[in-house]
Amino acid sequence: MSVIELPAPEEAAAETTSIFARVEHVIPRVEWPLHAPYVAAINALKKERNAVILAHNYQVPEIFYTVADIVGDSLALAMKAKETKADVIVLCGVHFMAETAKLVNPEKTVLVPDLRAGCSLAESITAADVRLLRERYPGTPVVSYVNTSAEVKAESDVCVTSGNAVHIVEALGQPRVIFLPDEYLAKYVASKTDVQIIAWKGHCEVHERFSGNDVARFRRDDPSLIVLAHPECPPDVLAEADYVGSTHGMAAYVGTLAAQQRAPRVLMLTECSMADNVAGAHPNVHFVRPCNLCPHMKRNTLPKVLDSLRTMQYEVTVDPAVAERARGAVERMLGYSAALRD
Ligand code: SF4
Repeated sequence: MSVIELPAPEEAAAETTSIFARVEHVIPRVEWPLHAPYVAAINALKKERNAVILAHNYQVPEIFYTVADIVGDSLALAMKAKETKADVIVLCGVHFMAETAKLVNPEKTVLVPDLRAGCSLAESITAADVRLLRERYPGTPVVSYVNTSAEVKAESDVCVTSGNAVHIVEALGQPRVIFLPDEYLAKYVASKTDVQIIAWKGHCEVHERFSGNDVARFRRDDPSLIVLAHPECPPDVLAEADYVGSTHGMAAYVGTLAAQQRAPRVLMLTECSMADNVAGAHPNVHFVRPCNLCPHMKRNTLPKVLDSLRTMQYEVTVDPAVAERARGAVERMLGYSAALRD
């Protein structure tokens, strides 16, 4: 196992000034020498390993802006992972995202910096639960949010993200579907379609903590606030929001606001780092934060990313028989999404 000599902090900071320029709005200059040695070492080791780093929008800015090659929401990462020519993918996100990257890149080595990075939604349902639902509602298609294990995807007809869920549910052309595992996303989809939705009671431990009363209180204090919410939030939060959408949709909405208004004030009801990362791209937007941290996403750190590339751990694998069926559900989602963009 090779040992990586980290460059001296001040020296690394001086060598990475152009990278620091991407994060100076969200990382204080005084903190940069702490990150810079890792950033320099990771970027060098990435080339040696022919690796790419995929980072979800909920990753801390020092990963998102300085070492990641591909950033985005679950769908963007899944699609870009398919296009990459690298031999190694380091997935800075949570375990189900790494499994999804492995499903669409079976020949590549997929690593996660911390094996414990799970997800309360993905863990709320098992493949056996899905088989029971199928027995209870025979002939009803199973639509699974991408926040599910490969085993659950393998039992599903198609996967969806929060950004394409309504479109895919309607495109199936069925009077009703089983939609799992997020209850609030299922309710949101039900509010946008005539298709009957049979929901599961899974919740995201980050988004379920927001409440409509909190939003109303923030609005009372600042009536100019523009409220953006992720559809994994409870329905009373979504009822108070000016915009409801996926992480990709929220980032695009803030981009439009930043171009149209001098200094919009935005309350973004999602994971904390999402606002940090969008703020990095739009310094004229003032973010009011109550935000909640995802403890799973935050298990990824620069030292762990470096360790992952150095030791080639932790590799994520999927049983080939499960992978083949799960890949079908993911690829059907990508097919519907491509049709949506055309
Ligand atoms: S934010 Fe919620 S849905 Fe996303 S990984 Fe964390 S627990 Fe899972």
